[in-house]
Amino acid sequence: MKISDEQKGHTLGKALKISRTVKDLRKQVAKWREAGRSIALVPTMGALHDGHIGLVKLGKKQADRVVVSIFVNPTQFAPTEDLARYPRDEAGDLAKLADAHADLVWSPAVEEMYPPGFSTGVLPGSAAEDMEGAIRPHHFGGVATVCCKLFSQVTPDLAIFGEKDYQQLCVLKQMVRDLDLPLKIIGAPTKRADDGLALSSRNAYLSAEERAIAPVLNAVLSALAEDVGKGADIPAGTTEAKRKLLAAGFSAVDYVEVRDAETLGKVERYGGVPLRVLSAVRLGKTRLIDNVRAG
Ligand code: AMP
Repeated sequence: MKISDEQKGHTLGKALKISRTVKDLRKQVAKWREAGRSIALVPTMGALHDGHIGLVKLGKKQADRVVVSIFVNPTQFAPTEDLARYPRDEAGDLAKLADAHADLVWSPAVEEMYPPGFSTGVLPGSAAEDMEGAIRPHHFGGVATVCCKLFSQVTPDLAIFGEKDYQQLCVLKQMVRDLDLPLKIIGAPTKRADDGLALSSRNAYLSAEERAIAPVLNAVLSALAEDVGKGADIPAGTTEAKRKLLAAGFSAVDYVEVRDAETLGKVERYGGVPLRVLSAVRLGKTRLIDNVRAG
């Protein structure tokens, strides 16, 4: 495919640049490095909302320059998942990123990220074993591999990820630690709608009726977190939480788990170390995930 000059890289408004090739990206990053600038990376799949923009703002506080990648990574979707219908809105994303004073958008085509012959992957560690890893067996391999590539392409000092995808955050922290990658991973709190629903690009799939049920997920997880923090029995609490979710109208509960917030290891009862309540549910055709701190 021939790439036009405009697609290779151009300046949007005053400050926001967009790169679509690794070559162009590296040229830009090299200029910043020569000038002694620090760089934060915010990886996204686009369809940006206030949760993503919060990560960009955190990046602006922590580094001189913020690169936002927009790449709907096909290798982290199973054939049965929503890759083809995943929401895309490049013009809207660029306008929001310009407003948030991001410095560079890294938006490669799939063939730029995975040229013919690409066949190497990262095998994620123990943090990827169950919950999302059990339900979506190839997901974290795809996430770890694309993030490893993004880190190598952008060479950021730090990368910012949302706690919204808490297991992903743990998997990536483990990857960076285990592979001695020279950057820091920072987790940012989940941005929510006023009724508690975690902002997500996938919320756009919800019908009005489903949107009214969706906030119950956060309410149920928060109630469980409070009980667990007071010493309640965890297996009994998760069973009751699942019952409440199904009674509220969720079509299925993939899991409700209370785990060690650092290792994601199983726990029976709160014992003073921070815990995390994590869940994934189905609401019609949409899959929602959320998590909250406990203890
Ligand atoms: P995505 O585009 O959904 O892959 O998300 C890109 C990044 O934004 C990930 O690090 C997510 O965890 C983060 N993110 C998504 N939703 C939220 C939210 N509601 N609050 C904070 N971060 C979020």
